[in-house]
Amino acid sequence: MSFISIIEKKKNKIELSEEEINFLIEGFLSSSIKDYQMSSFLMVVYFLGLTDKELFYFTKAMVNSGSVYKLKDIIGPIADKHSTGGVGDKTSLIYGPLVAKFGVKVAKISGRGLGKTGGTIDKLESCTGWTSELTESEFINNINNVGISIIGQSNEIVPADKLLYALRDVCGSVNSIPLIASSIMSKKLAIRTTSIVLDVKVGKGAFMENIEDALILANKMIIIGKHYNRDVSVMLTNMDYPLGNAIGNALEVKEAWDTLNGNGPKDLEEISILAAAITLLDNNIFDDIEVAKLNLRKVINDKSAAYLLKDFVENQNGDFNKIINFDQYFKTKFEIEIRANDDGYLVYESDKFGYLSMNLGAGRKTKKDIIDYSAGIKLHKSSGEFVKNGDLLFTMYTNINNVHQFNKMAASCFKIVKQNNNEKLVLKVISKHYNL
Ligand code: URA
Repeated sequence: MSFISIIEKKKNKIELSEEEINFLIEGFLSSSIKDYQMSSFLMVVYFLGLTDKELFYFTKAMVNSGSVYKLKDIIGPIADKHSTGGVGDKTSLIYGPLVAKFGVKVAKISGRGLGKTGGTIDKLESCTGWTSELTESEFINNINNVGISIIGQSNEIVPADKLLYALRDVCGSVNSIPLIASSIMSKKLAIRTTSIVLDVKVGKGAFMENIEDALILANKMIIIGKHYNRDVSVMLTNMDYPLGNAIGNALEVKEAWDTLNGNGPKDLEEISILAAAITLLDNNIFDDIEVAKLNLRKVINDKSAAYLLKDFVENQNGDFNKIINFDQYFKTKFEIEIRANDDGYLVYESDKFGYLSMNLGAGRKTKKDIIDYSAGIKLHKSSGEFVKNGDLLFTMYTNINNVHQFNKMAASCFKIVKQNNNEKLVLKVISKHYNL
């Protein structure tokens, strides 16, 4: 078997065997298959896709590239949630405490942000000291102690995804449906949980720009789950505009805290409660979605879920007081206000906001860039809202002295139009217990 014979076969659209796919992943991990060879394979997959069998073998090889956490010492249901990535998406920070309040433990591998989309690990690291580098036993202890633990990808767990993702990023094959499906599902399958809910983002700020592609991706991930005997629930949600009002690391943790205290934006609250309600149904805590949502609202109203977020962050060594006393710790040198230049309905462009936020210092252009946790954007008006000329739309926070360039970029983040085309927030839900 050789790399060339495999790539020739794939180019000729002949299905690869499990042995051939294992040869590729194992060879790549041991460096006998070089980056330039793997990039060419990834590009062939980008254009030709993978058959369902190939996709399963590819995902399986990625899962087997590292340890699988069986979490045998954890009693009771364990949930996982993953988003395909969006702008302003801090749902996981709200979801975790919500479901943990009902005895469903949360065990999750999260990623860092790259380009226009943010990453949960970066957001949490704005709480100084917070660490995602835990051993398996620390991970298990945390889950048992506070009900939630989040770790980052490492050389121990799904190392193939870590390497492949970095390569996809520089060879232009990130937004490939089979590669996204295998990347996400390998991380979900490396941890034994009793439920998985996936939030597939659809729209301008997402990898999947239309509902047709999002549905294909959703179904691929459901099929991979079935091979492993795991039920996967999927929500398809709108990412044409940013989720919530905050974009940027510390700003987003603060917004998650506000939302758990009952003071968050409605769209963010709705998606977080929906994801949590689906998980409670999947784990047989409730059998009616509306009853689940009602109960979830109770743990927001009594603030107990908010304090669970604090406990979780502190338990992984993070300084949550910085979030509670946000204004004291996250001041930036520049605060730039953007106002409406007309009367009409506001239309936000989430991908443009993603790039703007990255340029303000909140994200990385390359893997080596250092994040400014205090940088970002606060929206004062929402997409679809009627605004008047001169109204304050959003504020940019940055420590970079480049006001002229930021103003120019900010102007491309929105349009003001005469007709409101109300966009749906939740486009579809595919789940064993609830469909929309
Ligand atoms: N999230 C992932 O974990 N992997 C992808 O490829 C895209 C989004």
